[in-house]
Amino acid sequence: MDVNEYQKICQDPQHGGRLGSVVLPLLKAHFQTSKKAKPTVIWIETTGCSGNSVSLWNSIGPDLAQILEWLIDIRYWNFLMSAQDDTAIDILHRTALQQQNRFILVVEGAIALNEEFTVVHRQEGRAVSGADIVRELGELARHVLAVGTCAAFGGPSAARPNPSRSVGVGDFLGRKVVNASGCPAHPDWIIGTLVHLLLFGEPELEEFNRPLLFYGETVHRRCTRRSFFDRGIFAQNIGDTECMFLLGCKGPVTRADCPVRQWNDYVSWPVKANTPCIGCTNPGFPDAMEPFFEPLPREQTDAKTEPRSGLWRTLASTLTKRRRADGVKD
Ligand code: SF4
Repeated sequence: MDVNEYQKICQDPQHGGRLGSVVLPLLKAHFQTSKKAKPTVIWIETTGCSGNSVSLWNSIGPDLAQILEWLIDIRYWNFLMSAQDDTAIDILHRTALQQQNRFILVVEGAIALNEEFTVVHRQEGRAVSGADIVRELGELARHVLAVGTCAAFGGPSAARPNPSRSVGVGDFLGRKVVNASGCPAHPDWIIGTLVHLLLFGEPELEEFNRPLLFYGETVHRRCTRRSFFDRGIFAQNIGDTECMFLLGCKGPVTRADCPVRQWNDYVSWPVKANTPCIGCTNPGFPDAMEPFFEPLPREQTDAKTEPRSGLWRTLASTLTKRRRADGVKD
């Protein structure tokens, strides 16, 4: 399998929700043939709600056991491990030093710059925060993958008034971080990006450092209600079958492949379930996407809505201004 074949598999809608069932046997063969060890992964949760861990657990093909058996050698994942306190922290440090420049650091949750919000450990009386640990591990990791919108861009953890002064991992570390945003991220986005890092290195990224494979097009582009939008036929109430643009749908400014990949084992996605897209993969979510149930500004409605178009640039520049106002360095 070369990188082009792999990317085709990732983008084939028939693999929606079951990407891993296609990719993992290939990976298993790869590790057997190359005699390479499975890559070490450290999964750190800082702020956040564990939603991305739960999302990955929802993966059907592969299930979690297959992920752990075939895909990665996970050494630290607070959501899953039984070790606690000094024992767990010891594993964390030992792994990071032994696997320096080889391990993949996955971060779930934003980084609280007000560090007292995320004290995770005490070492010789000193409080150790999530920021301390991500700072240390971020320097040692080969790749850093931010999973979920909190880790990627601050997300709900950074919503106003943001008392914890939370920011995304990339803004915090000042090094290249691959973002798999979403509230939560789809299991395929996590697995697909991880596998790309393992086999082919960094995937091609868009301007917010997300893989083009999964975030290359807007939700709007392949939405099943797009023909209504194009004909100007809009739903008046939740539950109507037409385009939900006037009910506040943020699909035109949200990049993700939800319409074709769908969720929960290819069962449904928000628009199919009669709720407007709220833009959960976007930088600035949720503040920049609110009010959720009011249409995007009128002057933007006639703009083309594909990436790099006027509408997208307007959003991107609004978000950049907001980040600067919040004191986040570019
Ligand atoms: S505005 Fe929303 S509901 Fe309408 S076509 Fe676009 S993504 Fe679909």
